[in-house]
Amino acid sequence: MADVVLKNVSKTFDKCVKAVQNVNLEISDGEFMVLVGPSGCGKSTTLRMIAGLEDISEGEIYIDDKCVNDLPSKDRDIAMVFQNYALYPHMTVFENMAFGLKLRKFPKEEIKKRVEETANILGLTDLLDRRPKKLSGGQRQRVAVGRAIVRKPKVFLFDEPLSNLDAKLRVQMRLEIAKLHNELGITIIYVTHDQVEAMTMGDRITVMKDGLVQQVDSPTNLYHKPVNKFVAGFIGSPSMNFFSGQLRKNGKLIFSSDLLEFSFSEELESILNTYSGNIVILGIRPEDFSLNKSNENNQGKINAKIELIEPLGNENFVYMEKNDYNFIMRTRLSINQKINEKIDIYFDLNKAYFFDSVKSDSLL
Ligand code: ADP
Ligand code: MG
Repeated sequence: MADVVLKNVSKTFDKCVKAVQNVNLEISDGEFMVLVGPSGCGKSTTLRMIAGLEDISEGEIYIDDKCVNDLPSKDRDIAMVFQNYALYPHMTVFENMAFGLKLRKFPKEEIKKRVEETANILGLTDLLDRRPKKLSGGQRQRVAVGRAIVRKPKVFLFDEPLSNLDAKLRVQMRLEIAKLHNELGITIIYVTHDQVEAMTMGDRITVMKDGLVQQVDSPTNLYHKPVNKFVAGFIGSPSMNFFSGQLRKNGKLIFSSDLLEFSFSEELESILNTYSGNIVILGIRPEDFSLNKSNENNQGKINAKIELIEPLGNENFVYMEKNDYNFIMRTRLSINQKINEKIDIYFDLNKAYFFDSVKSDSLL
């Protein structure tokens, strides 16, 4: 097991493609760290630099306090699982899992013991004699994971390992990898573009965009205290709703747009006063809209037209429109109004987010 530290790590391809810029990360021994972000944001490149499959343009990477910049991949004591499991088709499950140990000249008995132990953990015992083409997608994925853990490396790197699986299997494998992490206490760095996967698996999550780290935090903090509009919109499904408006002083501080207008509690006003005159972005999560007016003063209201209702059984997604703004509410209550009818919806200002309209940083 091991700590992994990245200090000011950058990667530039072909002298101008800045794939990863000045990344600082400290991943502790036994931690499950997820790197998440849209396609092309630099997740795989970061992982490949940790693995030693890609040169580092600038900065240092440490594994257990040892700078590994110049250490070849094979000497870094890491294992990597990719999206396309890359199993050897002509070898059985046993041989696939044993391959890395054989290369490293482990004694035969030790190889047998380790492969059997690992197969047992992953429920592969009955499949050890099969070839990959006779396995289901989920079983192949398990063999790929098995091949990695059988070596007992210091660090496990996963690059979108579940992308090729169907939705149900993905959820199942997600659980299995999380369990494996709990049981073995291993250090995992896991790359995905799927925020649900990130939120459900990670002890901590690193959100990246355009090669830059946006926020490194626990799932709960990312959700409730996003540092900027990008993180706020990326984490959570359906995404946070955004409305632009101006903060104006009219005795009290007021948020004003062609969609809605409201004043603030004293506490919020004291925080937002410095932005008076600025255009800001209001953010409201779909589940923070409510059909009921509360007794609280600190509530905003929007009267909007219902465009579509998606009933999911336990809750409804209600798509709404007003003045060319489109937004979505998530509610467990049934909706009495029909499509194209108007409805009043409310939101608690204490649950609202505010962002700078230019820099996109959170103002709270
Ligand atoms: P992600 O894994 O988040 O989708 P990548 O790390 O694969 O993103 O890529 C980050 C950026 O670096 C992208 O713009 C990509 O096109 C570029 N890139 C990745 N690998 C290479 C390469 N070998 N040569 C040139 N550009 C690359
Ligand atoms: Mg990638």
